[in-house]
Amino acid sequence: MPHRAGRHFLQIPGPTNVPDRVLRAMDRPTIDHRGPDFQVLAREVLAGIRPIFGTSGPVIIYPASGTGAWEAALVNTLSPGDKVLMAETGQFAALWKRLAERLGLQPEFLPGDWRHGADAGAIQARLAEDREHTIKAVCVVHNETSTGAVTRVPLIRAAIDGAGHPALLMVDTISSLGSIPFQMDDWGVDVTIAGSQKGLMLPPGLSFNAVGERALAASRTARLPRAYWAWEDMLKSNADGWFPFTPATNLLYGLREAIAMLQEEGMEQVFARHARHGDATRRAVQAWGLEVLCVDPAEYSNALTAVMLPSGHDADRVRALILDRFDLSLGTGLGKLAGRVFRIGHLGDFNDLSLIATLGGVEMGLGLAGVPIRREGVRTAMERLSEPATAADRMAIRAA
Ligand SMILES: *Cc1c(COP(=O)(O)O)cnc(C)c1O
Repeated sequence: MPHRAGRHFLQIPGPTNVPDRVLRAMDRPTIDHRGPDFQVLAREVLAGIRPIFGTSGPVIIYPASGTGAWEAALVNTLSPGDKVLMAETGQFAALWKRLAERLGLQPEFLPGDWRHGADAGAIQARLAEDREHTIKAVCVVHNETSTGAVTRVPLIRAAIDGAGHPALLMVDTISSLGSIPFQMDDWGVDVTIAGSQKGLMLPPGLSFNAVGERALAASRTARLPRAYWAWEDMLKSNADGWFPFTPATNLLYGLREAIAMLQEEGMEQVFARHARHGDATRRAVQAWGLEVLCVDPAEYSNALTAVMLPSGHDADRVRALILDRFDLSLGTGLGKLAGRVFRIGHLGDFNDLSLIATLGGVEMGLGLAGVPIRREGVRTAMERLSEPATAADRMAIRAA
């Protein structure tokens, strides 16, 4: 491959661009994970990550991709044949359901159109019917990365409580943590699943289970087999700053740096920044005359935008052209959205000018691919970003 000058633009909704500070923090010798220096590092990250989840409880860190943390959440809390209620918000919800089936659970899928978040009313109605309490958990994806639609988790908690149902609430925040607001304790979430390579700005390779008290209690009687994923072993070792097996030491250096960066910016500012970029991106899409896949403005994702192409235009061809001409990677359409949408990631280590460059690449690429658009997207986004941060930005945060 010939050398390509300048930075590659990795604008897929994860993995995201890894900031230089994080890369430098990881560029160190790997140390003895049973020695005193490691213990200091582990204690720091295990404590420092809790506020990012909005929890005062334990957060378990696995050397694994997000999929591993999905599995960990289920095997630690459930027993063979247990029913779990899941919502078909998109491809990631479908993959989590398939994983639950393979583990010998009985997932029930509330159908969805892949353009909305999970339907709290449907969840409440289904739980209210379940008088025997055979459903043991409700599992939702907070930010459905395949569609750019957010599930409003407090509404799901209210649905469970409204039905007077004891099911655990498990939430996949793999592409929302560190980019859109999430408050585990305040929102009454029992298990939170997350990954390193999206809002947390790290390379792939770490994933997380934040564990609430009710989930911990369930883990004492849950009977699905678990070995590598066992919370008990992790929590016992973590209490003294250790891991039961070799941790991903260098990624933990990166995590320490990423937590410091989020703290320095301030979580409110991080969320406000993502809200502005989400809003500017959607305005650009509308100015082009294209459609955002998510249909409910109250569920718009500030982490990514899925853009629908007019019929007769192949989104993957447009993506390939943009990669070739402008060295910009966009997200592909997943599952049944293949070829019909492309996704713009605007999460992680990102600023106004990175967004304008990204939208510039998309606008030029759409034009070159012959997709009929108005060449007004970048200009519209620039106007949006030229406004001072306003009450509207703060409203957008609350809506998320
Ligand atoms: C990326 C992603 C996953 C999958 O995580 P992996 O790290 O690829 O295993 C699951 N859920 C959501 C919402 C995601 O964005």
